Amino acid sequence: MASLQTAAWENTYQAMGSQFYSAQLPTPVKNPVLIRYNPALASFLRLDTSQPDQTTLAILAGNAVPETSQPMAGVYAGHQFGHFNPQLGDGRAILLGEIRANNGALYDVQLKGSGPTRYSRQGDGRSPLGPVLREYIVSEAMAALGIATTRSLAAVATGERVLRDTPLPGAVLTRVASSHIRVGTLQFFAARKDTESVKTLADYTINRHYQAYVDEHFPNEPYLGLLNAVIEAQAKLIARWMSVGFIHGVMNTDNMLLCGETVDYGPCAFMDGYNPQQVYSSIDRQGRYAYNNQPEIAVWNLSWLAQCLLHLLAPTETEAIKKAEQALQGFADIYHRHYQQLFAEKLGFNFADASVQPLVEEFLSLLAQHKLDFSQSFRSLALFANNADCGLATPVNFAEINEGFNIWRKHWLATLGNHNINVADACTKMLATNPIYIPRNHLIQKAIDDACDDQNFDLFNQMVGALAQPHTANTEFDHLASSPSKQEEIICTF
Ligand code: AMP
Ligand code: MG
Ligand code: MG
Repeated sequence: MASLQTAAWENTYQAMGSQFYSAQLPTPVKNPVLIRYNPALASFLRLDTSQPDQTTLAILAGNAVPETSQPMAGVYAGHQFGHFNPQLGDGRAILLGEIRANNGALYDVQLKGSGPTRYSRQGDGRSPLGPVLREYIVSEAMAALGIATTRSLAAVATGERVLRDTPLPGAVLTRVASSHIRVGTLQFFAARKDTESVKTLADYTINRHYQAYVDEHFPNEPYLGLLNAVIEAQAKLIARWMSVGFIHGVMNTDNMLLCGETVDYGPCAFMDGYNPQQVYSSIDRQGRYAYNNQPEIAVWNLSWLAQCLLHLLAPTETEAIKKAEQALQGFADIYHRHYQQLFAEKLGFNFADASVQPLVEEFLSLLAQHKLDFSQSFRSLALFANNADCGLATPVNFAEINEGFNIWRKHWLATLGNHNINVADACTKMLATNPIYIPRNHLIQKAIDDACDDQNFDLFNQMVGALAQPHTANTEFDHLASSPSKQEEIICTF
């Protein structure tokens, strides 16, 4: 086991060339105090799992740099809410380098909130404590739900204030990702007609993430392979988001990673009451990134990826456009297949077929009609089917809410029977599929308020603990499973 100091840091990204980054040391902070360290993730990265010593804490705060690391900020561009910004980049994040994990793959280790870079524009390069706690909670919850995501290795309080509307306590998050290459990274070079750099980056991305896929499916057309691989990864990812009621909130092209991991936990949220048009993000005034718009927006973003790769897809533009369009059309099919499969499993089926799909749609339409809590409703189904203990202190009582649910239940049980699935088995499956704990908005906000106002991290730590096993009911955590009351409900995230 190495420490962050002694780890074998690699810098393969920088080896591509100086046009992709600028060297940048983190800016030291006044008084670093550890908030939380993630030993399970450390172990995956073959790092020390014990609580950080002073040297490690200094690295996590940006007050020291590992000897063999070459810290940098990456450059990118991106469409933000539909408008192209040709010059973005890591404005408040610094990549320490890459570490090889247990699975043999390289992972980026990045400090977020570690001071200004060349790409900070008007920003201070810092992060308030609130967003750091939110990202830690939600990213780790996503990982435990089996959803591809960047991870959180550590959160450190800086002992400094950052000025937003008011002065707020500051913090640094250590983010771990399969890589931070964004659709917007390719866009930066494509917009400058730097086709050589686009090719370099595409080759690097294939090599780092999709070599096996390309070799198997597109041995003679590696760039078409890359496009298809990213489309597939994103289609599966968005289907998973939908299956847990996750709303990203800022699906700009600079917030879409080619590796297929969820990134940038800003004004994201898990929905409480099921509403297909749900938006929480304070900056998403038009509802561009509403829950049910997410697949369509993903395709829109991916079409910009295709645009960047166009000159690599075929000798003539007409031919290239044809190939790109065909690849993009593939999204819908992959997405729907995965969406149907995931929702079929949420109802206790092993697979989706023509008899299961209408059950999913009817159930969701009943949830929408009666504004029922998305996660609790699915979790309560085991109780509704067979009186199985779903672990909720106050489960949803469908029969009392509307007769429509009783009719639906008859169809559901009959369909399970037609599939030769016994109800007890379906319940076991549902309880292992439908989480009891999700990172609820009102609880995240309370955890942030407790931490900012009283330096009390109890709720934060409890949430991280409970969310690590999201399907396992634990009476100690009953308060983390309930949906918000009308007064507690949060309708806007920042
Ligand atoms: P985001 O909306 O989080 O995807 O960020 C958009 C861009 O703004 C990225 O290039 C960020 O690096 C940059 N940015 C966000 N917050 C800050 C900050 N406090 N200081 C400097 N740059 C920032
Ligand atoms: Mg971003
Ligand atoms: Mg952000």
